[in-house]
Amino acid sequence: MIQPFSIAIHGGAGTILRSQMSDELHQEIISALKKSVLAGYHVLQNGGDAVDAVVEAVKFMEDCPHFNAGKGSVLTHDEFVEMDASVMHGLEMDAGAIAGVRHIKNPVELARDVMRKSNHVLLIGEGAEKFAFEHNYEYTEQDYFFTERRYEQLLSMKEKGLFALSESKDPEPSEPPSAKTQYPDDKKYGTVGAVALDMQGNLAAATSTGGVTNKKYGRVGDSPIVGAGTMAENGNVAVSTTGMGEFFLRKMVAGDVAARMRYLKEDVHTACEHIIQGDLKAMGGEGGLIAVDSKGDIHFGMNSSGMYRASVDIHGKVEVKIYADE
Ligand code: ASP
Repeated sequence: MIQPFSIAIHGGAGTILRSQMSDELHQEIISALKKSVLAGYHVLQNGGDAVDAVVEAVKFMEDCPHFNAGKGSVLTHDEFVEMDASVMHGLEMDAGAIAGVRHIKNPVELARDVMRKSNHVLLIGEGAEKFAFEHNYEYTEQDYFFTERRYEQLLSMKEKGLFALSESKDPEPSEPPSAKTQYPDDKKYGTVGAVALDMQGNLAAATSTGGVTNKKYGRVGDSPIVGAGTMAENGNVAVSTTGMGEFFLRKMVAGDVAARMRYLKEDVHTACEHIIQGDLKAMGGEGGLIAVDSKGDIHFGMNSSGMYRASVDIHGKVEVKIYADE
């Protein structure tokens, strides 16, 4: 019997409103999510490793300006793009991560190379880029990552004096779409991530982000932190998160899902919901996560009005969704 395999991805959670989503944008996002999940699924179908599947899926979203990772990353206070990413392989709980890189087209690939080609887990800033260029990565100019829409978001955040995307306190649900509001994800965390179970029974997770708009001082969130934004443990679960990192870091969200399943023997759905709808929400942490367990069972959890997400389950069924009530 072939070992079951499956994959799930997310493109960020947050306040995503139907009233602000044009048909055209809806189609573009659905299509990008589908292509991303299928890119990862093809790796699994060909007998590939779960880590290569999640990297392939995330890489697709890093190249797509609709998401806050790679091209399309949000801007810092000083108008730079600074990206964070991590990967984890469940077999030996190997992990690699990078934070604050400015010139790497696909940060998730660099995170995988830190895992495979260095003796370390987390490299930051110039050091991470030095490691990359020693391993033949191309230098990518900041101009490549820059999008007009992120610049407008930065100006708006600066005007409001906020360092992050504001959330449901000000959803402006009745505001009609205009040039400025045509992106319904201005109040959304656009981090991307993937989790997978491969034919060998290996679990893996990857997460990649530009962080939060208007961040200062080298701020780093949960996405590159193993046990907070990313977790994979064979025989148990793989998890990738999205939401305001300052909450996910303190609640160690991805690691807490794994711990609940390991020690309390909760199933993946119970463990995820306990954290996302319970402790995290109580603390004020809005966002979501994706998880896959050792049988290939997938869970999407969110306490926000939506999360860009897609999956291919163990029966090969493809699902792509945006809103929480779908
Ligand atoms: N978790 C990310 C961070 O705090 C943001 C996101 O999910 O979009 O950097």
